[in-house]
Amino acid sequence: MSSPPGRRARLSPPGTSRLTAETREDLRRRLLGLIEGSRVMIFSKTYCPHSTRVKELFSSLGVECNILELDKIDDGAKVQEVLSEITNQKTVPNIFVNKVHVGGCDKTLQAHQSGLLQKLLQEDAEYDFDLIVIGGGSGGLSCAKEAAILGKKVLVLDYVVPSPQGTSWGLGGTCVNVGCIPKKLMHQAALLGQALHDSRKFGWEYSQQVKHNWETMTEAIQNYIGSLNWGYRLSLREKAVTYVNAYGEFIEPHKIKATNRKGQETSFTAAKFVIATGERPRYLGIQGDKEYCITSDDLFSLPYCPGKTLVVGASYVALECAGFLAGIGLDVTVMVRSILLRGFDQEMAERVGSYMEQHGVKFLRKFVPVMIQQVERGSPGKLKVVAKSTEGSETIEGVYNTILLAIGRDSCTRKIGLEKIGVKISEKSDKIPVNDVEQTNVPHVYAIGDILEGKLELTPVAIQAGKLLARRLFGGRLEKCDYTSVPTVVFTPLEYGCCGLSEEKAMEVHKKENLDVYHTLFWPLEWTVAGRDNNACYAKIICNKLDNDRVIGFHVLGPNAGEITQGYAVAMKCGLTKQLLDDTIGIHPTCGEVFTTLEITKSSGLDITQKGC
Ligand code: FAD
Ligand code: NAP
Repeated sequence: MSSPPGRRARLSPPGTSRLTAETREDLRRRLLGLIEGSRVMIFSKTYCPHSTRVKELFSSLGVECNILELDKIDDGAKVQEVLSEITNQKTVPNIFVNKVHVGGCDKTLQAHQSGLLQKLLQEDAEYDFDLIVIGGGSGGLSCAKEAAILGKKVLVLDYVVPSPQGTSWGLGGTCVNVGCIPKKLMHQAALLGQALHDSRKFGWEYSQQVKHNWETMTEAIQNYIGSLNWGYRLSLREKAVTYVNAYGEFIEPHKIKATNRKGQETSFTAAKFVIATGERPRYLGIQGDKEYCITSDDLFSLPYCPGKTLVVGASYVALECAGFLAGIGLDVTVMVRSILLRGFDQEMAERVGSYMEQHGVKFLRKFVPVMIQQVERGSPGKLKVVAKSTEGSETIEGVYNTILLAIGRDSCTRKIGLEKIGVKISEKSDKIPVNDVEQTNVPHVYAIGDILEGKLELTPVAIQAGKLLARRLFGGRLEKCDYTSVPTVVFTPLEYGCCGLSEEKAMEVHKKENLDVYHTLFWPLEWTVAGRDNNACYAKIICNKLDNDRVIGFHVLGPNAGEITQGYAVAMKCGLTKQLLDDTIGIHPTCGEVFTTLEITKSSGLDITQKGC
């Protein structure tokens, strides 16, 4: 194991010179993880001649070793202390072969002479794989491929339990099949509708009535997804990752049962496991919901146009789906239980909502459905929904062709045998708590992606965590996934991009008087000739006055918000300040340039509206 150039790595959390009970336990778990997951684990020091002898011995036997040089990491002394508790041996080298503690240099040489070492080395044939990954989505595939590139024998199990409406899909997980990819493509379909509308103002003349065909769009998107599914299978094959289309469930600490579509069972063993089973849409638990409602799992491959649609929920999935359905011309209502986009900057969330409202989406605020009934069969049929106010006893009714539930997602952690091997799951959220190296409380079992407790549920987060985990487990690297300042975009009709803190959170953490909030409305040039709203797009940054006016929150509402936010997120990683923004020359005419000319603070109360037609 080596640390990255210029930076000394550490195995325990920083900031403690003494070993507290917590850091001791954490370090112990990490060391056990290394020992459990390595055929040969050598704790060594680069200058120690005994360590060198042992390394030469294994090298002469042609055996690959995982070596941790304690003099090359910041917390080497702590590691040595915890190792001595585990092994009763204070010195290096300290050697483990297939989880058995062999001892130091002399004992290893003796074991070699007596033939014991060779016997121990052969025991790794006891596992079928070095790594089994359960779940072939964003996180699982990234981890599996990286481990295979590092020469490990890897198995990926992926299985899609059909939705209550019977929808299922291929390899690749949520993002590719029923998430980011079809969602963004349908958002694009809606944007094209708007562009067609604008185009007349730019001189385009067309006589025929423009209308949208749901089946054509869905078929094209599903064909593209099919090609991605195929690409994933191919890339696993190229990297010699074994892929089994079966449902995985632990039956022993190192053994998993795989059940395929036909109910046939096989079992596989591995030294290490990564759980990356993701989440599935939640249902309301009211009469008629599973029978008649659809979720995002069904929407993107729906064989017929959903028609007049009620979207239940007010977060990412709900608002994005409502946005593109309205954008392709459907009658859409969103039923909101409490607020829009919980967890996001609420000023931005309300602006997202009011733009949608001005562009035809209806909002039923503070209502929840209590009953769903079928009024008429068909594709789509007609459904009656009865909803109750969350603030009083008022009930309302409505008839829709489709009811789309987007009320959150449940982690797939309850039916995979975790209780059999002692992996802890949060009682409240069903999520898996892990330490900062994605290790569960069971040392040889790791978890990544949407099922992690307290982490962001985003594809690039799962991919990054999976890749870095494989590198740490099998590549001798120590870099951890940085879950802070992750940029994200809500692909609503007016896109909302953000990175860092919301204004509410910034005030809670840093206090209002220590913040400067710069903001402005802006009018994209493309919108001027088209005659579109001059006061809908909005830019806001939150700066910490006590830290050199560092930008701790970045928010943009406008076209291509994702493209804008990505670049500024890099700048924030580099420590972006207001002064650096002012020193940067903008690119004209773009929307992104607005951040280089922000002058008005919120506290000044000055007018930020754009004057225009
Ligand atoms: P998943 O990708 O969900 O993969 C888990 C896989 O494991 C699935 O294939 C599942 O079937 C399989 N599985 C489960 N249990 C088992 C088992 N026991 N055995 C075998 N296989 C099993 N993120 C973004 O970054 N940008 C977006 O624009 C975006 N849009 C989204 C839109 C929607 C509608 C949704 C629902 C999500 C969106 N996300 C987006 C979130 C993103 O899709 C997830 O964060 C990401 O897919 C999580 O990856 P994962 O590897 O944790 O799980
Ligand atoms: P979510 O963020 O958990 O939001 C659930 C929404 O449903 C909330 O508005 C919630 O309202 C509402 N709700 C919950 N229970 C309800 C009930 N019984 N009745 C009525 N409303 C109810 O879930 P999500 O939108 O499915 O998103 C899941 C995750 O996917 C997100 O965290 C995100 O990371 C990821 N995602 C990312 C993108 C992207 O990057 N563009 C897009 C989609 C999804 P309350 O506020 O009242 O609780």
